[in-house]
Amino acid sequence: MNHSTFTFDLEQTVRDGAARAGRFRTPHGGVETPAFMAVGTLATVKALDPVELREMGAQMILSNSYHLHLRPGDELVRDFGGLHEFMAWDGPILTDSGGFQVFSLATLNTVSEDGVEFRSHIDGSKHRFTPESVMQIERNLAADVIMQFDHVIPGQSDEASARDASERSVRWLARSVAELERLRDGGRPPTTTAPRLASDPKPPFPRPAPSHPQALFPIVQGGIHAHLRREAARAIRQLGDWAGFGIGGLSVGEAKPDMYEMLDVLDDEIPRDRPRYLMGVGFPEDLLEGVRRGVDLFDCVAPTRMGRNGAAFTRDGRLNIKRAEYRLDLRPLDEDCDCAACRRFSRGYIRHLFLADEMLGLRLLSLHNVHFLVRLMRDARGTIRDGTFDAWSRQWLARYHSRSSTA
Ligand SMILES: [Zn+2]
Repeated sequence: MNHSTFTFDLEQTVRDGAARAGRFRTPHGGVETPAFMAVGTLATVKALDPVELREMGAQMILSNSYHLHLRPGDELVRDFGGLHEFMAWDGPILTDSGGFQVFSLATLNTVSEDGVEFRSHIDGSKHRFTPESVMQIERNLAADVIMQFDHVIPGQSDEASARDASERSVRWLARSVAELERLRDGGRPPTTTAPRLASDPKPPFPRPAPSHPQALFPIVQGGIHAHLRREAARAIRQLGDWAGFGIGGLSVGEAKPDMYEMLDVLDDEIPRDRPRYLMGVGFPEDLLEGVRRGVDLFDCVAPTRMGRNGAAFTRDGRLNIKRAEYRLDLRPLDEDCDCAACRRFSRGYIRHLFLADEMLGLRLLSLHNVHFLVRLMRDARGTIRDGTFDAWSRQWLARYHSRSSTA
């Protein structure tokens, strides 16, 4: 690959209404869109091996700058040659900037124009994120797509707060770009390298830092205020020619119709030849409604988190495997599913694993749930290409909602 000429393109796009199917090119391969990205917060999609992710057709995964900065440290990941090498996933990776985490997980956060001071949710230690420091962290992690550091506010914030955070996020975007250019021009991050122990391995460790290009995605904020979303999208477009766009601050407590309205508004404001990533959104109904409104990429911790709690997605709604009614159930979690769990194991067996606290149980449910969303997006791509997405997705949702009472 010639790095100097590489471009992150959205190719071969087919449209069906506002829904689109295409292929997003990254230095670690293409991503057929629309696509669900499994979340590997700490450089692991919880309970799943990258081989299993590859087998189920997962294309791109997401990891978190906030978490990896705190543990094990982004410099340590860099010394392993970046995230791809560290976690043995050779497909595309996107890193979140920590904007969401410093405002949701960390305690005592203080926002200024410069950045955010916060205390770690792990040990209470004090940290500071700025647009510049986050670019250094994301460069060390070396994902294909990196998100800007943004100011995230609660879903139902008033207009003044939403405007303040949105405009600050745009100013932080300009600083992110300047810092990335400085780093690309050979500037070293001003942070010290991870402390060395006498027992540390000798060269070839640390491995050379990866040199593949990274695409910076801006994040469109603006709460549930259509005019703020429009203004943010326009201000961001004036700052550069972006390889893709993040849509942030949705699915954070606002009503669903508000989220859908913001997506409709942004469909006209974001260039249609660039991928759009709806951040942190990933329940089946959100995926289909997002695709219908022109979204290409999604991520959510729900499939693995629910899996660890005993809940499974099925075509007929959510199922809680711990319920007594599944005690003698010979059927797979979902009779239409071709995942490695559904091909071999019964509901009754998986229920037994959960009740006995056997770790295979949560692995199987996590695997099934991620597979379920990956396949849902594969089916969506097929129907968009056939021109049948609208009817198919309405039927899919009608069945999903018709028997959801088992959750
Ligand atoms: Zn399955």
